[in-house]
Amino acid sequence: MEKNYRAELVGVFGDPVDGNPTGVLEEAGFAALGLNYRYLTMKVTPEDFDTAMKSLKALHMKGINLTMPHKIAVLPYLDEISPAARIIGAVNTVVVREGRLIGDNTDGKGFVQALQMEQVPLKGKKVVLLGAGGAAKAIAVECALAGAASVTIFNRSAAHGEELAQTVRDHTDAQAFYQPWEAGQAIPEGTDILINATPIGFHPDASRKPDIDYDTITASMTVSDVVFNPDITEFLKAAAARGAKTISGLGMLVCQGALNFTIWTGKEAPYDVMYEALKKEFA
Ligand code: NDP
Repeated sequence: MEKNYRAELVGVFGDPVDGNPTGVLEEAGFAALGLNYRYLTMKVTPEDFDTAMKSLKALHMKGINLTMPHKIAVLPYLDEISPAARIIGAVNTVVVREGRLIGDNTDGKGFVQALQMEQVPLKGKKVVLLGAGGAAKAIAVECALAGAASVTIFNRSAAHGEELAQTVRDHTDAQAFYQPWEAGQAIPEGTDILINATPIGFHPDASRKPDIDYDTITASMTVSDVVFNPDITEFLKAAAARGAKTISGLGMLVCQGALNFTIWTGKEAPYDVMYEALKKEFA
């Protein structure tokens, strides 16, 4: 058989993008399965986005991740978009299949999968989100589509919070509420799953945590963070100290990376290898 020296190309377009760690876990997965794939972390400014998107087909790439500021700008380039990504209004993963660009959003799906891996059900559950940005939107929509009874959003900006609650109400069967985020915010009684979907606590500001009344967190809650560096945030430490089950943002990130891996390669992702690679990276 003739040798094939050509690698299959995937990667991420973003700006800023230098600190994006996804390549570490994807490359670890490719190596573990002996796949001749490369994940390239590429700086693409908004002015060059059109050229970059055209290069997907020109370079016969398998697909691409989109991060800030391209998750919405990519929409007009797509031939097909998943139902959830359409509701979220943003795409973070594109696969090129027979010359067609197909977009999905794996941010929220990764979160739901991280819950499933910890045997935390969503059906009929009350979800509380801190934040209403891109990550919060993907998580709120996917939790609602997975059968959550309600999604309550606490957010600093009322406009963002109201808009997200309306999106969930318009497109899913879940109830959705926006509430202004007060200082020392109490978490409502009966909350099953509490999620920090803000960047508060991200390295190098790892000593910070969201301004809530931590004594209203109970042992019956599952508490999760989107912040993945550090793996165990001050928010999660405070929740664990009240007996809550905790799920880190690293799990969500790896689940999302594993979903992308499968979308591009068609193969089951080696989750443990990818998780360990990222954990080592942040150690
Ligand atoms: P956005 O900028 O879209 O949204 C940020 C949200 O956090 C907004 O709702 C904003 O409120 C709120 N916020 C920011 N700072 C504060 C503050 N000091 N006090 C109160 N609220 C605040 O960001 P993303 O949603 O894209 O990303 C959020 C975090 O999620 C990032 O740290 C990102 O790295 C992480 N992430 C993790 C993933 C994972 O797989 N683990 C996947 C995707 C993202 P307002 O609306 O008022 O501005």
